[in-house]
Amino acid sequence: MRSKTQHLRTVLAASLLLLLATAVPGRAERPFAPEGTPVRYMPTRQYDLQHLRLDLVFDWDARSVTGTATNTLVPLLPGVGSLVFYAAGLEVRKVRVNGAERPFSLDPQAQTLTVKLERGYGPQDRLEVAVDYSAHPQAGLYFVGPDRGYPGKPRQIWSQGESDLNRFWFPSWDYPNDRTTTEMVATVKRPLAVVSNGKLLEVTDQPDGRRTYHWRMDVPHSTYLVSVAIGDFTRVADTWHDIPVEYYVPPGTDEATARRSFGDTPKILDFYSQATGRPYPYAKYAQSAVVDFMWGGEENISATTQTARTLHDARAEADYPSEGLVAHETAHQWFGDLLTCQDWSNAWLNEGFADYFTALYMRHAHGEDAFAWEVDDLRSSYLREVERDYQRPIVTKRYADPIDMFDRHTYNKGALVLHMIHYLLGEEGWSKGIHAYVERFAGQTVTTPNFQDALEKTTGVSLGSVFDQYVYGAGHPELKVKWDYQPDTRQVHLEIRQTQKTGGETGLFSFPLEVALTDEREMVVRRVPVAARDFQDLYLPSDKRPRTVVLDPQGWILKTVDFAKPAAEWAVQLTASKPLAAKLEAIRALGDLGGDEAVAALGRALREEPFYGARREAAKALGKIRQDSALEALRAGLADKDSRVRSSILEALGSFPEHAELIPILRHALETDDSYAVRGAAAGALGSFEKHRDQAAPILAAALSQGSYRETVRGNAIKALAELDPDRAWEPAQKLAKYGAPADSRSDALEALVTIAKHDRHRRDEVRKILEGYLDDPYYSLRENAYRRLGELGDPDAIPAIERRARLEADGRQQRNAEKAVQRILTSQSKGREDQALHDRVEQLERETELLKEQIRMAGEKKGGSTSP
Ligand SMILES: [Zn+2]
Repeated sequence: MRSKTQHLRTVLAASLLLLLATAVPGRAERPFAPEGTPVRYMPTRQYDLQHLRLDLVFDWDARSVTGTATNTLVPLLPGVGSLVFYAAGLEVRKVRVNGAERPFSLDPQAQTLTVKLERGYGPQDRLEVAVDYSAHPQAGLYFVGPDRGYPGKPRQIWSQGESDLNRFWFPSWDYPNDRTTTEMVATVKRPLAVVSNGKLLEVTDQPDGRRTYHWRMDVPHSTYLVSVAIGDFTRVADTWHDIPVEYYVPPGTDEATARRSFGDTPKILDFYSQATGRPYPYAKYAQSAVVDFMWGGEENISATTQTARTLHDARAEADYPSEGLVAHETAHQWFGDLLTCQDWSNAWLNEGFADYFTALYMRHAHGEDAFAWEVDDLRSSYLREVERDYQRPIVTKRYADPIDMFDRHTYNKGALVLHMIHYLLGEEGWSKGIHAYVERFAGQTVTTPNFQDALEKTTGVSLGSVFDQYVYGAGHPELKVKWDYQPDTRQVHLEIRQTQKTGGETGLFSFPLEVALTDEREMVVRRVPVAARDFQDLYLPSDKRPRTVVLDPQGWILKTVDFAKPAAEWAVQLTASKPLAAKLEAIRALGDLGGDEAVAALGRALREEPFYGARREAAKALGKIRQDSALEALRAGLADKDSRVRSSILEALGSFPEHAELIPILRHALETDDSYAVRGAAAGALGSFEKHRDQAAPILAAALSQGSYRETVRGNAIKALAELDPDRAWEPAQKLAKYGAPADSRSDALEALVTIAKHDRHRRDEVRKILEGYLDDPYYSLRENAYRRLGELGDPDAIPAIERRARLEADGRQQRNAEKAVQRILTSQSKGREDQALHDRVEQLERETELLKEQIRMAGEKKGGSTSP
């Protein structure tokens, strides 16, 4: 008996250990590129493209483009007997080389057009290859306009070439590694007008009433930057040093609205001209606001395309300014357009720069805190990607599709690396280095070594370790830090561990770290070298014990820090530091620690911090601390004049769903606040008041009829209602998802449907069918969302529909969305099975435990002793 009990115990212990081992959640390990993804190189150029002329008729009714593309080129080496251009889905009628018709072949798989020459040509020859063709483009060129669902939508035709979609509407070289001048001669039916790259040479009226626009771009550029934006636009004009700056907005948009979004452009052009040392280099700068655009904006050379969603009324300005978007696309006119990444593995030379120069512009326009806030935001969303998905080197040739490169590593981590370089070079070195890079490579394609070399040669600073560790290597230092004061030697002692998982592409990091010895009144900043070791002791002389030690107060270094400090020290850091980065770090640490001291410090920050971002974070941190005093502190902040802070406070109130007295407060905000974002946040927060559903649900149901900018209110209300009361949300969610419903809340309605299916498994089939129906939706972003939501729903019956649609998608981004959805369904299936197995095992163990207890009890009884409880 005894031995059997013993044996059972061992089994139990072993099983529980096993259970624990399998149940510990780890960091997401989804690889960036699936195993076996080949290394990608740009195709070899046979020729140097010198000029591209497009003579095209754009027909909205037929959704077609017809005309001639003339590529003028010079072979790079002798003996070139055939020429390859990229063309996808084009109907080619005739090809002439220097006027003589030549045979050609199309390869739909490789998306190429090959033209056979009558002999070998070499660098002494100049060939004009004219291709007569037409197309009904499946991607790259989009025709939008009124239909049954949206009768008010303006007619527009616009292109989106990056990264390799322009081949769907004209044949040319379609990789970034060549540059050419271009010309666009575009004929359209009135009242449509054409905006394209460079200078408008003339507009000609045709006898049949159509109109031809002739644009010419004299600064050579990569062909993915060739663009058209065609519509019946209202044009609003500015200038920058005699260069026309133009905003094209949909008809009916008033000038004030156009200026609200784009009016800062001359100021931004000024700033970048100085920051790069190269004045804005093109004949004009246009921004066209187009409807249904799939990105925020696209930096087509001298003619940026922007989403019309960025246009907003005065009420939305504080919460949804266009400034960041405009600054990002404008920065690309230098980084991306004047200097272009030579291949997509170097995409950070476009995107990391555009993001970082946006942050620099924010500093110029709004000061240090706005700059730090921007950098902090870049950092958080990079870390989210790492946490959720993967980490990878910024520069990598192993990617499945160019579109995959456009992630938080290319943008955010790229920008954060520039931020570190900025720190290492100092203000003057940075400025000199950037000027030299732009000066040396303007008008060329660039690689990462080009950039590093320009900086090092100009400043003498050696940057090898930054590039090796952060650009060619993956990850970032994950520090675990402790400090103490050693009075005998009058030293502050710092113990620094690097805890990131090393191996493969991630190693240990070395960098100079600023350490601030901090009192209530002063911060003494010292720079110490952190070595590439997993453990290091550092000593800093200090006559007295500082109240606390702050690491990297300005937030220059990309890293995470787990710093063991008590709340009192974080409170000192919060009040005594000037730099925003140190304050934000303290606020977050206090939110994690909780307790009265933390609440007091955070409440003070919420009332008194001058920069809104610090107040927002304080509100968020208080929401995390779910004690009554935190709620009081939040309520005390509700009258904040800044709507962005009010939004965060209301969101945080959602963490106190026991408190029915908050419902009227949320309702008041939802129905009366001047800010759409605040109203949306109030709706979102109401979604957590499950215990008081009868009170909260009708408020949300009523909010479904509230119109707002980007449908913030309706979108949040339907999602919240689905959480709170799935039955009540069922009908309205279906209605709001339909084609023809307000476009901006349709995706939220899809999300709500998935929430409903999760609460009520009987509706899963129906929700799956509804979502499948939206895979063919005309809206690009809604299709994206339908894929995502089907992945989330996790129903394997959706796989055939996803795969059917994926075969029809010409666009790499949508194909990846489809793949990701299928992957997610399969993972959730196997996870579901694991969960079931785990569940079964726990039940079995519980039964065994009961048995064990019974046996022990019986054994005790047999011995005649009494069992104690
Ligand atoms: Zn960009």
